[in-house]
Amino acid sequence: MKTIKCSSDRLASRTLPAKGMDWLHNPIFNKGTAFTEAERETLGLRGLLPPHVQSMDEQVQRVLANFRSKSSDLERYIQLVGLQDRNETLFYRVVMDHLEEMMPIIYTPTVGKACQEYGHIFRRSRGLYVSQNDRGDIQKVLENWPTRDVKVIVVTDGERILGLGDLGASGMGIPVGKLSLYTACAGIHPAQCLPITIDVGTNNETFLKDRLYIGLRQKRLRGDDYDAIIEEFMVAVQKVFPGVLVQFEDFGNSNAFRLLERYRDQACTFNDDIQGTGSVALAGILSALRISGQRMADQRVLFLGAGEAGIGIAENIVACLLEEGLPVAEARKRCWFVDSKGLIVKGREALTEHKLHFAHDHAPCADLTTAVKAIKPTMLIGVSGQPKTFTAEIIQAMGEYNQHPVIFALSNPTSKAECTAEEAYTLTGGRAIFASGSPFPTMTINGKKLVPGQGNNAYIFPGVGLGVVSTGARRVTDSMFIQAARTLASLIRDEELAEGRVYPSLNRIHEVSHAIAMAVAEEVYAKNLTNEPRPDDLAAFLSAQMFKPVYPDYSAK
Ligand code: NAD
Repeated sequence: MKTIKCSSDRLASRTLPAKGMDWLHNPIFNKGTAFTEAERETLGLRGLLPPHVQSMDEQVQRVLANFRSKSSDLERYIQLVGLQDRNETLFYRVVMDHLEEMMPIIYTPTVGKACQEYGHIFRRSRGLYVSQNDRGDIQKVLENWPTRDVKVIVVTDGERILGLGDLGASGMGIPVGKLSLYTACAGIHPAQCLPITIDVGTNNETFLKDRLYIGLRQKRLRGDDYDAIIEEFMVAVQKVFPGVLVQFEDFGNSNAFRLLERYRDQACTFNDDIQGTGSVALAGILSALRISGQRMADQRVLFLGAGEAGIGIAENIVACLLEEGLPVAEARKRCWFVDSKGLIVKGREALTEHKLHFAHDHAPCADLTTAVKAIKPTMLIGVSGQPKTFTAEIIQAMGEYNQHPVIFALSNPTSKAECTAEEAYTLTGGRAIFASGSPFPTMTINGKKLVPGQGNNAYIFPGVGLGVVSTGARRVTDSMFIQAARTLASLIRDEELAEGRVYPSLNRIHEVSHAIAMAVAEEVYAKNLTNEPRPDDLAAFLSAQMFKPVYPDYSAK
């Protein structure tokens, strides 16, 4: 181990690169052209870099100029991932200082396109791939990761990537992107984040025929063999990285619910598509109620899509109503679902347990239009992955029944949205309260500026993660997500609500993540979910945990 001191405590505890080129090839330590003369001397870098020492600001300007000159978002994605692979501090400086511009590139919608093209744009491996062929050896595979100091794992099996379906091993772009958001939004240290893809095959015929596909060329494994791999993985993860937070991401819904139930009481784990989505949407709903001045108990919420997102949101609405004193049966009656077979009603055949909770006494309705006319919802939430399903007729009907119709078209990426912000606003004379999964531009209707909300899970999971890992929590609970939603909704300012926003500006994400981490930490201490003592100054303690993208000084010996 080298003895060079550096000004960052976190990095000081890590094994430093050996000499010269090793520093330039290690993205956690690399400063590129910003290594100072003194550092170049100490670290053996003289001659390995152009003579002019650049400031970080100059580097940022160079990155931004390149970024803005690219002709497509996919090229911007490739540029940013390349930067992340070379110099993480600079990557995060650029992303954190320009989050509104960068988030649609490193996450939805562009990350969806990147996953579809993953094998074709592949440059450098990032994260860990655990494949079916590693069965019996998964612990060994995990031990190949260069550090044990991992705090957050995001894992996918690639079966339901955004609303794009089965992308197999090419789904790796999602754990990589989500972990970038953990760092960019809540300051989880990038060196403590580990993206993992479990490759159990794919049913994507295009990929199976594509010579450049990066995963196993076989149909997706199912049943006991699949469960055995996940079980081996979960056991191994806890041995190799004890106490690590494991976020399940973009699993198909037949596995997602089961795996959440199986592991939530055994490990520090959650499913973002169910619990994170439930939380961010609940926050949007609470904000919408602030705009309309109505009560949750008076809502009729109709969902298009009864999968992970829809059920996750409905369960959170129910939890919120329970806290407000409604009995569970009454609370569930506030939520209605239309899935691919029409309105979910009592007596419909082959309903899963999650759907059964929301199967009410009602005549069947074959499609969404009929259901909207029958139920007259106050809120319409699209989580079906089916684009353009909120037709003009449906949006206009919502406008007829409600002074402030709540219309959330949450399917990702943009191409899958149930309607656009423009459609929701223009067809309701600007009265709709709108949010989407992927961003839509600000609009002016009847002289009024309207800012569509982006119900981005990034408002929630990074702050929850910060609260969990900073306190050493053993488990992640549903009530953490309810507290996170309430905290997020409480942070929206009146002037933001006046513009139709149901979420605060992304520029406030650090404040948001910190506040959510505070709420989660309070929950951890109140429920005795940790063995670690509560710090006297919790706010300062959490702030101190948050990574700042500044270069340490490596010159001092
Ligand atoms: P899922 O596969 O678990 O569920 C999809 C549901 O849509 C299923 O119930 C299915 O029956 C239903 N469906 C499919 N075709 C339909 C049709 N023609 N009519 C009605 N229903 C239909 O997927 P999920 O995890 O629930 O995600 C669904 C969508 O929500 C995705 O596009 C995803 O990107 C999006 N999402 C958005 C956010 C967010 O905005 N924060 C978060 C999570 C998921």
